[in-house]
Amino acid sequence: MNLKESVNTVEKIRFEKAAVLKEKPSTDGIPFGKYFSDHMFLMDYDEGKGWHDPRIVPFADFQLSPAAVVFHYAQEIFEGMKAYRNEKGEVLLFRPIENARRLNSSAERLCIPQIPEEDFLTAVKTLVEIEKDWVPSEPNTSLYIRPFIIATAPQLGVHASESYLFSIILSPVGSYYKEGLNPVNIMIEDADVRAVRGGTGYTKCGGNYACSIRAGERAEKQGFSQVLWLDGVTRRNIEEVGSMNVMFKINGTVVTPKLTGSVLPGITRKSCIELLKDWGYKVEEREFSVDELGAAAKNGTLEEAWGTGTAAVVSPIGELSYEGQDYHIGTGIGELTQKLYDTLTGIQWGKIPDTRGWSVKVC
Ligand SMILES: *Cc1c(COP(=O)(O)O)cnc(C)c1O
Repeated sequence: MNLKESVNTVEKIRFEKAAVLKEKPSTDGIPFGKYFSDHMFLMDYDEGKGWHDPRIVPFADFQLSPAAVVFHYAQEIFEGMKAYRNEKGEVLLFRPIENARRLNSSAERLCIPQIPEEDFLTAVKTLVEIEKDWVPSEPNTSLYIRPFIIATAPQLGVHASESYLFSIILSPVGSYYKEGLNPVNIMIEDADVRAVRGGTGYTKCGGNYACSIRAGERAEKQGFSQVLWLDGVTRRNIEEVGSMNVMFKINGTVVTPKLTGSVLPGITRKSCIELLKDWGYKVEEREFSVDELGAAAKNGTLEEAWGTGTAAVVSPIGELSYEGQDYHIGTGIGELTQKLYDTLTGIQWGKIPDTRGWSVKVC
């Protein structure tokens, strides 16, 4: 990506205001990702021209050719982040530069042109500032931010698209946990796999989700809320849980699957590891097999287990099912799980001082 093609100034973003503004929904019991704010960010890419025409326009349907590459070959990537309102009424982002970097890492893998980090941040901040009234202020609520890039060129040959659309849409989200942290039960998936090394597991691309839906639906039917994914080669090593990274506290040490290429490098994962190390915990990023997990569950050394991701931040795991056997993990919410949740959400909602420079003020 050539910096000359970059936007790099807020001034260049064209703004077309919606004639009528929507009524904002109550965040109480609001379903995830079904209500969208008044405006969206758009920017086009054309071969030879680079990224151009950044604009914020009324939220509306796209018009695309039925032959657009994204519909046939899933050349598509996205990000997931949130804007939080603190007690002073200010709007904060959490480590947004990490999202900019990961979007570009995904772009590189999917042969999508990258977006300069500064331009990504400017786009997110400008849109969120315009839509600041959509950032809810009730406790534990936020505004979900979904940046994404789709391949738009009408071409059925299997080649990288010659044109792309970068968009950002916003959706208010309610409190994930109404009555405090709630443990989930998970089913270890031994048939379907989400990702393999050499594939796209480390990227946020739509295709990873398409192939994960079946296992998720099966688990749900059997009364489980998440799937625990194993690696695609040995089917022994733990990779992720649902669309979260996963961590286990065993005998005082925190173990989490290492980033092998088929594991998504979560920003919540990274933040948890940094906090845990600061607190003096030993953190092991390594291969961790389902056999080792089963043994730790049986002999009582498995003290806590939790998933990490932007949506739930930290999601305690209460029960594991594998090959017809159920393993219970600890009792109630683990102390460390709770501490990570309280610290991360404390920083995100500006309730505790941010000593690491993770919070970025929008307005
Ligand atoms: C987004 C995502 C995560 C979590 O990443 P965060 O940056 O912490 O939100 C974990 N696993 C998968 C598969 C994901 O798509």
